[in-house]
Amino acid sequence: MSEFSRGCISFVRGGRYPHCHSVIIDDSVRAIIDAASDRERLLAFGRDRAVDVIVTSHAHEDHFMYNSLFPASRLWVHEADAPAFASLQYFIDLFQPDEEEIELWKEYLTREANYVPREVDRMLHDDDRLDFGRTVGRVIHTPGHTPGHCSFYFPGEGVLYLADWDLVEAGPYYGDPNSDLDQTITSLERLMEIRADVYLTAHGKGIFEADPRIIEKYLGTIFLREERLLDLLSRGPKTLDEITDQGIIYGGAKSIGAWNLAVSERNMMHKHLQKLMRQGLVCRENDKYHANSSGLSSCTSG
Ligand SMILES: [Zn+2]
Ligand SMILES: [Zn+2]
Repeated sequence: MSEFSRGCISFVRGGRYPHCHSVIIDDSVRAIIDAASDRERLLAFGRDRAVDVIVTSHAHEDHFMYNSLFPASRLWVHEADAPAFASLQYFIDLFQPDEEEIELWKEYLTREANYVPREVDRMLHDDDRLDFGRTVGRVIHTPGHTPGHCSFYFPGEGVLYLADWDLVEAGPYYGDPNSDLDQTITSLERLMEIRADVYLTAHGKGIFEADPRIIEKYLGTIFLREERLLDLLSRGPKTLDEITDQGIIYGGAKSIGAWNLAVSERNMMHKHLQKLMRQGLVCRENDKYHANSSGLSSCTSG
């Protein structure tokens, strides 16, 4: 029994990273969205009848880690993230690792996250119709977390799967080199406009009675981070390393598997600084960032 099902759609809970929750669709076209939850339950779904399609919301290991259990299924992924599925080197290069990290990632992704290179059978695009039989979904391209991140909307069932816009307390993640802060904001604003009964997410609580205010609060953590950063800079200029050490987002240094959260913290703070510089609220002089208190729309120096 699934703790959530509606029509042919049900929810399979997964554990923490490198796992996520999955959405399964038991219709004439049988599908798993984000096959990285409970290995045994996904395999059992495949034993009942073949799984026709694996949909992966974006190119992150905690969403594709059981794709390799379904080699005969077709793989559907947004075109912007598709190359990362076909080449391990391409995928790793996205994270701009140093020599030592490259080996660590290769080992981790192959052994722990079951990375097997695979061509994408169908490239997804925004507003594509996904026909599973009685169940019809829409691709909602919601980039920012990754360039090809997608959410999936099932209007007939009133279900909106937000994937990694996961509504967790900590707030959204845009800490990869190819993540984008402005796109994150735009994507969350767009998701707020969609009328659904239920939100499903890939992490955390997983099942929510739909309410745009929940997404609004989640979006709001971005502005809280920004406020804390501006507050820090108002107390004196800081380098990016000094800002990272403050742990505005994740607290102290942490790592999960091969993933170093200090790197994510640094990337996210850097994206905030770039945004604030574009807005004329922060200036950079040499390697230090400072709050622009001159009242001018742009910095007078640096
Ligand atoms: Zn992700
Ligand atoms: Zn994830």
